Amino acid sequence: MTASEVQRGSSTLEPTHTSGTARSFGPGRALRQGAKVLPEHARGHNRSLVLQTLFHQGAMSRADLARETHLTRVTISDLVGELIADGFVAEIGVREASGPGKPAMLVDLDRAGHRIVGLDLSGSDVIIGAVLALDGSIVERREVALPAADEVVQTVVDLARALVEAADAPVLGIGVGAPGVIDDRGVILAAPNFGWVGFDLAGALQLALSLPVLVANDANAAVLAEYTFGGAGDDVLLVKVGRGVGSGLLASGQPMRGGRFAAGEIGHVTVGTDGGPQCVCGKVGCLEAWLSVPSLTTRLAAAPAAERDGILRDAGERLGIALAPVVGALDLSEIVLSGPPELLDGPLAERALETLRARTLAAFHDGVRVRMTEQGQDIVLRGAAVMVLSGQLGVS
Ligand SMILES: [Zn+2]
Repeated sequence: MTASEVQRGSSTLEPTHTSGTARSFGPGRALRQGAKVLPEHARGHNRSLVLQTLFHQGAMSRADLARETHLTRVTISDLVGELIADGFVAEIGVREASGPGKPAMLVDLDRAGHRIVGLDLSGSDVIIGAVLALDGSIVERREVALPAADEVVQTVVDLARALVEAADAPVLGIGVGAPGVIDDRGVILAAPNFGWVGFDLAGALQLALSLPVLVANDANAAVLAEYTFGGAGDDVLLVKVGRGVGSGLLASGQPMRGGRFAAGEIGHVTVGTDGGPQCVCGKVGCLEAWLSVPSLTTRLAAAPAAERDGILRDAGERLGIALAPVVGALDLSEIVLSGPPELLDGPLAERALETLRARTLAAFHDGVRVRMTEQGQDIVLRGAAVMVLSGQLGVS
């Protein structure tokens, strides 16, 4: 008896809580499970394994799938049948015959069979939303002006509803990247920009739209986009520079959220002992006061053009000082920067890398990379889609 045969039964899309040790920014699953598990969790797990394989490797025959997943041909045939019936997998035609015998039918993730709605609440003057395909491509994108704080919730609900209605296939769920500290149930513990304290944003959207909703900090969403679509490795820190400075962190391929869900909140870490710019939080010399877009733009505007590179290098050095202990402690191999390339890409990133190398153990950390994301402005939307893919299908 194969593992999947133990658990034949419903074919609902309930997130399967595959183990007590699952970690993610939201409830549900660990990222990228790669092996078989206990019989009682096997069916959901093996469904995810099939979807994950097709998501990353593309169309293949059922025989290829059996080989890739180490599941039996019978089990694969069974799971693929279910996934076709549920609209997640499609037969896409036969492979050109390369030998004797019947040519193999290819199956693939049905990328257009479902849609995901993603929202990005991290912008300083707009809220961005999109309908996305299961491969993270954007089908439709909308922006609304950021309203007064007391109208934000209604605006977000209205935008989400409009996107669900615009979707041309069933919506798998809604993913939201928002500023602030957010727990694993999508409750915003603190988001000073919106005046939210203990606000259940996921609950509010769920109530209004009756769909699964996953909410995470915008930098945590962004690092998921980098992992799934940007080719980031298992040990990566993404620094998101905008109105504030935050980061999202994967260690050994698992999202780190911290004991109070504030992992990655590096913006108000004081950098150095030599003072520095005044920060909005009341301290001086916070990383955010050196590096945020408003802070950098103000300093650049006030200085002669000849000092531009020096100001950017200075900010890069502060970033390197803040990150060196993190790289050392966690043995990270990659730092990815997300934000305006005209500020980050160049002297700032170069100086950050030099500083990191100078302040960590050469034998291990000389290979650490600092690079810009290639996900551009849509990184949070795409990360929000990964949250839904991971939470609902076990794909990341
Ligand atoms: Zn501060």
